[in-house]
Amino acid sequence: MFDKILIANRGEIACRIIETARSLGVATVAVYSEADARAKHVALADEAVLIGPPQPAESYLKGERLIEVALEAGAQAIHPGYGFLSENPDFVEAVEAAGLTFIGPSASAIRAMGLKDAAKKLMEAAGVPVVPGYHGDNQDPEHLAGAAEAIGYPVLIKAVAGGGGKGMRKVVAPQEFAAALDAARGEARTAFGNDAVLIEKYVEKPRHIEVQIFGDGGEAVHLYERDCSLQRRHQKVIEEAPAPGMTEEMRAAMGEAAVRAARAIGYKGAGTIEFIVDASDGLRADRFWFMEMNTRLQVEHPVTEAVTGIDLVEWQLRVAAGEPLPMTQDEIPLKGHAFEARLYAEDVPKGFLPATGTLSHLIFPDGARIDSGVRAGDTISPFYDPMIAKVITHGPTREIALARMTRALEQSEVAGSVTNLAFLAALTRHQGFAAGDVDTGLIERDLDQLVAGVVPAPRIVAQAALAAAGLLQPGALSGFTLWAPLARSVTLAHEGEEITAVIRARGPEGAVIEIDGAEIGADCEASGWRFEGVKAVPMARAGARITLFSGVAPVFDLIDPLDRAGADAGGGNLIEAPMPGLVKAVFVSTGEAVAEGQRLAILEAMKMEHTLVAARDGVVAEVLAAAGDQVEAGAALVRLEEDEA
Ligand code: ADP
Ligand code: ADP
Ligand code: MG
Repeated sequence: MFDKILIANRGEIACRIIETARSLGVATVAVYSEADARAKHVALADEAVLIGPPQPAESYLKGERLIEVALEAGAQAIHPGYGFLSENPDFVEAVEAAGLTFIGPSASAIRAMGLKDAAKKLMEAAGVPVVPGYHGDNQDPEHLAGAAEAIGYPVLIKAVAGGGGKGMRKVVAPQEFAAALDAARGEARTAFGNDAVLIEKYVEKPRHIEVQIFGDGGEAVHLYERDCSLQRRHQKVIEEAPAPGMTEEMRAAMGEAAVRAARAIGYKGAGTIEFIVDASDGLRADRFWFMEMNTRLQVEHPVTEAVTGIDLVEWQLRVAAGEPLPMTQDEIPLKGHAFEARLYAEDVPKGFLPATGTLSHLIFPDGARIDSGVRAGDTISPFYDPMIAKVITHGPTREIALARMTRALEQSEVAGSVTNLAFLAALTRHQGFAAGDVDTGLIERDLDQLVAGVVPAPRIVAQAALAAAGLLQPGALSGFTLWAPLARSVTLAHEGEEITAVIRARGPEGAVIEIDGAEIGADCEASGWRFEGVKAVPMARAGARITLFSGVAPVFDLIDPLDRAGADAGGGNLIEAPMPGLVKAVFVSTGEAVAEGQRLAILEAMKMEHTLVAARDGVVAEVLAAAGDQVEAGAALVRLEEDEA
């Protein structure tokens, strides 16, 4: 075994590798970019070396520099993780030329599987079923259109150099082919510098089922299948093992085909053979086809570890160090069922837009394996994949493993960035998914239902309001009744909507919170707050942002009335009360010309005076309030004439 290895990666996978290396007594050298100086993988490793600026091309993709660091640190091997340089055969050759071991397959194996067209030809020759289609050299658009016709629509155009779902277009009818080809080619050129494509029959109601394989250069075994059919835009969202509905016959056929594929290239290390499965008529041994091989450890490898009890990174290190495969095919166990959910910093309602932020609060419950590259206080930067964690659950049955996943997601607490947590939790409650009736179109079909903002219960909003008002601390209410006015109001923003809550203290033991005309009772007991009799949920506050962890982690932003008075001056004709209050003075009258920034009125609220100013130059069309009026939040106070410009 090695004494010391360098990990040419970051985040979750770097941490994962460090843990296994440590358990084997292998020292680790981490590398990091300037953006990652305080990252978890840097803290975990025995040594860490700065390699360059944040941009991957200047740091994690600088092969020469990584090799130099490994040599200087006295490491004997480099683990590439996944992504970055993990499937770069030139890097493998450079590592070996420097006298180091690459923890992964040979450069030739990576090359053989690097391009989808060449891989398909190789697999055909090895007797592995491949997706029917055209994967020849003729890239003439006419020829490709003819091939599509011959295959029969719908077809899938795929970049031969593709990965991560890029450079892929489904085409349902001949008249759409030319435009789709252009689009796929353009994307492939930008992403991979190679615009060659292949055409495949589009498999209907497809399932993505892949087989984990392992080779030691001579022998090869498989570690059963993973079902990765829950996808969005060809990206995996939740994976599981084994595949629901899998039969012994189909498993044997897929496993055998995968091992044949691995043997055909003398494979060494961990790899995945991805198959597309036509599940329109259940799982059938004659309806699966090779799609591609990933010559690396896969993001979703933990589900395989959960059902086999095998540490795949340990196997990687052993095989790379020259040991034979630790088990024969017959010795590899398969126990129970496992799921993995990919938790991302992303804005689901905004089309799953990647998000950034500093994770002010990050707590995961017991009962799940959490693979994460971040800790509370760490930042999700714009430079890398915005993954926060992988949540993995296992159980004796699929039903139990899934219930554990739902619970784990509902009890995970993340604040500081928007996340897909609520979306993932909704997915685990999806009836079709629960029944094991999965296919790659499931998420897209039911997207609206899955994305629908779960409306927070009134008691959750009430708790947020009390927290926003700073009244959740023990004893806060006694001060409230003694010194402050009887009622206080706060305005919160929740998913673009404003919520105004009026809080009335009932004495030191409780309050009534009025939201949208409904009243929610809050009681401060020795054991803590209760809202409508239900215990307060855990929450986190960072500045004006309050996140409540009630299973869907609703985020509320406290709207600072002062900010609002200014921000509202966004050019509208109406000057509105930013909060409920008493109009102290109105300085203008109808017909009067006003200049941008000129004082129009003063509102007294929350024991403070707020000056409302004109957002632009204009003429007062109407004065809608007078000094002494008590007004609601949003009440119009002054209206300007339509702007002629
Ligand atoms: P990538 O290299 O981007 O991962 P893949 O070839 O593995 O590309 O395909 C990604 C996903 O696209 C698959 O998991 C599957 O959901 C879908 N897909 C690929 N090929 C087909 C096909 N022939 N028919 C239907 N769906 C497909
Ligand atoms: P897998 O096939 O292992 O499930 P994916 O298909 O999700 O992984 O992603 C394909 C590869 O691209 C993975 O190795 C993943 O780490 C990598 N990847 C995806 N997004 C990024 C990114 N933003 N930066 C670096 N690598 C990425
Ligand atoms: Mg793939």
